[in-house]
Amino acid sequence: MAIQLYDSLERKLKPLAPSHADGVIRFYNCGPTVYAPAHIGNFRTFVINDVLRRLLELEFGAGKVKHVRNLTDVDDRTISQAQREKHPLGEITKKWTAKFHADCDALNCLRPHVEPTATGHIPEQVSMIECLMEKGNAYRAADGSVYFKIDSFPGYGALSRIKERELKVTNTVADADHKDSVSDFALWKAYKPEEDGDVKWPGTAGASEGRPGWHIECSAMIKKHLGETIDLHTGGVDLLFPHHENEIAQSQCCNGTTFARHWYHSEHLLVEGTTMSKSKGNYYTLSDLVEKGYSPMAVRYALLMGHPRKQLNFMLDSLHAAESALANLRAYRASLAPVTTAHDAFAPVFAALEDDLNTPGALGALFTIINRKEGPADAAAFDRVMFALGLDLNQAAPPKAETPKEITALAEKRWAAKQAKDFAAADALRKELSAAGWSMLDRKDGYSLEPLKK
Ligand code: AMP
Ligand code: ZN
Repeated sequence: MAIQLYDSLERKLKPLAPSHADGVIRFYNCGPTVYAPAHIGNFRTFVINDVLRRLLELEFGAGKVKHVRNLTDVDDRTISQAQREKHPLGEITKKWTAKFHADCDALNCLRPHVEPTATGHIPEQVSMIECLMEKGNAYRAADGSVYFKIDSFPGYGALSRIKERELKVTNTVADADHKDSVSDFALWKAYKPEEDGDVKWPGTAGASEGRPGWHIECSAMIKKHLGETIDLHTGGVDLLFPHHENEIAQSQCCNGTTFARHWYHSEHLLVEGTTMSKSKGNYYTLSDLVEKGYSPMAVRYALLMGHPRKQLNFMLDSLHAAESALANLRAYRASLAPVTTAHDAFAPVFAALEDDLNTPGALGALFTIINRKEGPADAAAFDRVMFALGLDLNQAAPPKAETPKEITALAEKRWAAKQAKDFAAADALRKELSAAGWSMLDRKDGYSLEPLKK
C-alpha cells in the first residue's frame, strides 16, 4: 500500500513518494509563531502532521524522512508582543518556544529533524531577496522596503486560484502606498523605529535596514535545509493564501524549478462554529485542559477524532470520550500476549490512514477489531498502530473525578426546571451548583458537569 494524500495544488489524491535518488522524503511543515502559547487549534495541525510523519517513517523507513518545521520568531505579532511586555524580542520568543516544545512533548509529537528560526536565517533570506531583485521579480519601494512584483510571475494564484479582483481586496495592507501594485507583498520591511524598537538588520542591496517579511523565511529555510524541490509541504488551510502562494512565487522565481511536489492543508478546529484563534480569544491551550483534569493524550486522541480535511468542532465532551477510549486501549494492550503473527489484524487501520490520513476511519477500524475479540492477539502489530497514531498508553490517565450524588441531583433538578421553562428556578439552581464548585454546561439535548477551576 502507498500513502495517498490530497494535493491542494492539483486538487486530487496523489501517492506520496520521494523524488530524490537518496530515497529521502523531504517534508516541510510551517511551524508556530512564538509570541503566545499555541492553542489546541494550532495543535490539531501539528498532531495531524505528526501522524503523517510517523506514517511516512513506517512506510519508507525512519531514516528516509527529513522533517523540517520552522519557528517564526520575528514578525509583526512577535515584535508587538515584545513591546507590550517591554522585553527584548529574543527573550519573548525563547519563552514561548520552550512552552511550545513542552506541549509538543506532552502531546507525543516527534521533534522535527531541523527546527530553523527566522532570525537565525537572515543572510539566507537577504540572499534570496537579492536573487529576486537581480531577476526582476522584486523592487525597492520609496521607503526602502522591497516588494515581490506579482505581475512578474505568471503562475501566481495557481494554488489558491485567487482571482485578480479578490487578490486586490485581500492583500491590501497599511503600507500599500509604497507599492507599485496593492497585491505586491513585502520581502523586506524598512525599519520603522516607532513600530520595530531595536529589531533591525542591515539591509540588502538597495534596501534600507529593516527586517524580513514573513513569507521569505520559509522559502529561504527550505532551500537551505531541504533543497530547491521538496516532496511535501504542509500547514493549516489559512496558510494557503497568501503565505503558501507567496512561498511558491519566491522560490520558483529564484530557483527556476518546481518548489513543492505535493501540498497538503488540514482544516481548522472550531469552537461553536467559528475558527479557534488567538485574536478571537475563543481558545483553549493544552494547559487550560490539563488544569481541568484532562490528560494531554486525551487531547491528542480528541484531535484525531475528526477527518483532517474537515473542520472539527471542539467540545469538552469529546475529551471524556477520548479518556474512555484510551482506557479501553490500555486494557486491551494489557490482555495481549507478546506474540508476533504473520497476519496483521490491524491492516484495516493502516488502510484508513493511507487513504488521505483518515484518522477517524482508522480509530473506527481499530475498535471494530478490538471489539471482535478475535485471536491471535499480536502485541507488536498493536504497538505499531499506537506508534502511527502517536498514542502513548503509558502516559498516566487523570484520576477520575466522580460527580457527587447531591451534585447530580441538583443538576437533574435544574435540567427539569429548564425544560419546564421555569428559568428563575433554573438560575437559582445554577447558583447553588457553582457555590458547590461545579459548572453546568447546557446543550440542546442534555448537559455536562465540570468542576470549577480552583
Ligand atoms: P501560527 O502560530 O498562527 O503561525 O499557526 C501555526 C499553525 O496552526 C498553522 O499551520 C495554522 O494554519 C494552524 N492553525 C491556526 N489556527 C488553527 C485552528 N483553529 N485549527 C487548526 N489549525 C490552526
Ligand atoms: Zn511557511
